[in-house]
Amino acid sequence: MWGNYEKTISNICKISSPLGSSSRAEACSQDGSIAIFNQKKWREEHKEYFKKWNENHRERLNECARKRYADNPEHYREYRRQWRKNHPEYAKKHLLQNKIIRQQRKLKIFNIISGNNPVCVRCGCDDIRLLEINHKNGGGRKESGQGKQSTFCGDILHGRREVDDLELLCRVCNSWHYLEMKYGELPYTIIYDMKIKI
Ligand SMILES: [Zn+2]
Repeated sequence: MWGNYEKTISNICKISSPLGSSSRAEACSQDGSIAIFNQKKWREEHKEYFKKWNENHRERLNECARKRYADNPEHYREYRRQWRKNHPEYAKKHLLQNKIIRQQRKLKIFNIISGNNPVCVRCGCDDIRLLEINHKNGGGRKESGQGKQSTFCGDILHGRREVDDLELLCRVCNSWHYLEMKYGELPYTIIYDMKIKI
């Protein structure tokens, strides 16, 4: 039974854009697997297995979800808009939860890059809100710009990317670094005054 479920998910992942505005269920129906995937009763009876399987295949499922989104972004944007409109209270809670998850993820990434000392390497700023990841040798926009930020961060989090060429800088020092890359060494001194509480 477990093998069937895995096969079903695997089939979902192989099905792509030709389905247009397909839902997951529609995607399953292409190969007749809908009977397994859509059985609420089956899922209820095997809740723990279902949960565990999803956890063990989280990366792959996320990859499939990203692909489905990339194939038809407007469909999913509209779906989210409608969902938020119909469930305002849940939407509010959901937004807050997402914010907390994003902050925790950000801190984990900063800890990996900085060896558990997330501060600006130039001025010592320790305010997480002001810190950014800097590519020491440039190329940050190419690697993490235009929708690639999530993959870039995921690669760091899951150890798929080395971090030797990365460092943490506050937004001010990051601008300074950008100008130095462009014009060479500049006579700036930036002081982060920790006595001033913000
Ligand atoms: Zn700084």
